Order: sequence, then structure tokens, then C-alpha cells
Amino acid sequence: MTGCHCAGAGQALLDLRLQRMVASLPIPKRLWSRVSQHVGCFSTQEVYLLQKLALTLEPVDRETLPSLFSRMAILNGTDSANFALDLGTTFRRILEQDEEAVAIFSERAGLSAMQLAELLSWTGERIGDVRMRFRNEVFVSRALRNPIIRGCPHCLREHAADQPHPLRHIVLRGDWLCRGVDICHQHHQPLVPLWSNARPIERDNIGARLAEILPDLQAGSFDCVRVEPTDYDLWLDKRLSQGISADKNMAGLTAGVSSDHNLRVHWCSFAP
Ligand SMILES: [Zn+2]
Repeated sequence: MTGCHCAGAGQALLDLRLQRMVASLPIPKRLWSRVSQHVGCFSTQEVYLLQKLALTLEPVDRETLPSLFSRMAILNGTDSANFALDLGTTFRRILEQDEEAVAIFSERAGLSAMQLAELLSWTGERIGDVRMRFRNEVFVSRALRNPIIRGCPHCLREHAADQPHPLRHIVLRGDWLCRGVDICHQHHQPLVPLWSNARPIERDNIGARLAEILPDLQAGSFDCVRVEPTDYDLWLDKRLSQGISADKNMAGLTAGVSSDHNLRVHWCSFAP
């Protein structure tokens, strides 16, 4: 677009957009300063490209970043790799949680700062070579990253039930990533291996992997015998959900499971 009127309208739109970006704070300061430096270079089309997509999804409780990214890609008629390219980034940068890539996705998905923080907290964020922050606590990375992806087949099947496009709705939960979480508390179903791949770019391509197992999932091939959660299972679920305050609410219970806890979570290190 050219001409005084259009240029003025474009600038006004840009100003509004930038004000909203600051107000909603989905863009990290590092990216924001970069945007500000180039404000004069933006065309109306580029401003448009930063807007929320017409088709978006709300993140589900405990959902991970790759899961939401995959569902958004499918909703927009593409796959994770091409969706990332459409956003001007790459799927690898999304999985690596590159600050700029995640900020672009968050903005285009219309996520609030709180939704993004919650999403990342259930995904786990690297804070060094061997440690990750997960639910505001520090874990060794191997407690959260494993070639084997697990899940509850009942949960997955319920997401897909009666949906004309089931892959838009099937969600992978962050607590399923955590070694030590072995049961679905809603269905009393042991978490089962869904797929295995050593390459994150393949393993975390959730839509593609789910498409491969969907027939077996819907046929009940992944189902197991119900089990009752142990005191340890109950404690860990509350700890991940509520943080350290859960220990105060479950003081008697944590005393009872302390030895079991020590045995089973030697691989993780909760922050003091
Ligand atoms: Zn379940």
C-alpha cells in the first residue's frame, strides 16, 4: 500500500498494535526492543503478519507447547513444519523454545502472558545443559526428556470422541513427560508408551505421531488394567499442580511416602 492516507492508516494500526503488544506483554523485552528499532521499516503487511490468526485454539490444562503448536497447525490446514515456516520461523526453533520463535507463535495464537507461562511451565524450560525448570521447580533434564512419549489412552480417546477432526483436539499433557508420574488420576490408567523416537524433531511432531497411532488408540489397543494410585502418585500430582504448598496440605501423607519418594525421585531435584 502506498499513499499518504494508507501510510497514515498503516502507522496508526502499527501504533495500536505495538501498544497492545506492550500491554499484553506476550513479547519478551529482547524482541520488543528489536521491534521498536525497526518500527519505521514495517509495512502494513508485516503488521498484519503479527496479528492473531483467524483460527486459534485455547490451550488445555497441563498442555505442552509442542501439543498446542501441533493442534494449531492442523487447525490451520497444515503440519507443524510448514506451520512454523508460515509463521516465519522453524519447527526446530519452536521445540528449542527460541525466545523469538515462541513469542511469534504466542502472538499469532493470541495467548496471554499467563497462558504462555503456564504452557511453558508444563513443557519444561532448559536452564543449563542438564537441568530444566518444570512447574517452577528444578529437575535434571532426563527426568523430563525421554525418547518414549507416554500418555493415558482413555484421555486421548475422550479428546477425539465424536470429533470430525480428532487431531485438532487430542492433547498431550506435560505431567506425562515427568518420570515418576505413572498413572492418570482421572482414569486410574497406567501411562503407556505411545511412541518412541530419539530425534526430538520427530518425537515432538505430535500431530504426525498421533495420526500414526490413532486407529489403534480408538480400537483400545493401548488400554491396560486399571490401577489405584499410591500415596506417592497422589503426592506428586499435587506437588506438580500446586507447588511446594501441596506439601503443607499433605503433611501427613508426605511423611508416609517419604521413603518411597526418596527411592523413586532420586533422578530429580526439586528446588528448595
Ligand atoms: Zn486418563
